[in-house]
Amino acid sequence: MQIVDHRLKPGWYRPSPHQGGALDSPSLLVMHFTVSGAGAKGVSDYFVSPQAKASAHVVVGRDGDVRQVVPFNVKAWHAGRSIWRGRPNCNDYSIGIEIDNWGRLIRTADGQVRSSTSRVLDPALAVELTHKNESRPSLWEVYGETQLSALAEVTRCILAAYPTITEIVGHDDISPGRKTDPGPAFPMSRFVSLVEGRGDSQPLFRTVIASRLNARGGPGVQFDTLGVFLAGTRLEVLYDSPGPWAQVKGALEGGGAVTAWVSDQYLA
Ligand SMILES: [Zn+2]
Repeated sequence: MQIVDHRLKPGWYRPSPHQGGALDSPSLLVMHFTVSGAGAKGVSDYFVSPQAKASAHVVVGRDGDVRQVVPFNVKAWHAGRSIWRGRPNCNDYSIGIEIDNWGRLIRTADGQVRSSTSRVLDPALAVELTHKNESRPSLWEVYGETQLSALAEVTRCILAAYPTITEIVGHDDISPGRKTDPGPAFPMSRFVSLVEGRGDSQPLFRTVIASRLNARGGPGVQFDTLGVFLAGTRLEVLYDSPGPWAQVKGALEGGGAVTAWVSDQYLA
């Protein structure tokens, strides 16, 4: 993938009507979540519809589907009221990417995990974390590896084509209090490593140091135990959350590789 004439090629493109004005020498890349399960197709269909009144340059789906609705040399309407390093109206100097993700989730009284729109979701997709602009933890949808690697490829293309971009920020950095995206589940530092190629070729492995480490179906002791990882087992870390839980892949006691969550204090 590369950028030719301010468009990702090869790539899906349809222009949103919600754009306007030349975007010269952008200095910022802004990450958003969509609060949706619509996929890149559903979200891009919305951005090209008349009622949206909003857009971003690119949408990235959970399955890695990438769709562009605004060329990179035109302003998209993604940031709204915003300010960064004293400079207001970030749409005037940034490229915006929407990542399909539900954002904040809800655990209902009967233990189900639901989106803010009441869609029932797989509890394994939820991670409990405290947003940097908040004081209490809440549930957030995990960003999967397929989506992150597609996002990293798009980001590499953008940074190569627009070297004036010097920072990657979240909407919650430029509109704090008003916006929470991409939220605490977005692994910004690991994502930057992925963009720089450090995370691409070398998966991260850690070793179990507890004599028996429970492998759980989700990030918390409330999730069922799938089995036990024994001391010395090498686990591939799929998602090292900022909290105390890591999503890993490895062989359980008695054989059989699983993807599970473990308490990361027992990994070295
Ligand atoms: Zn946003």
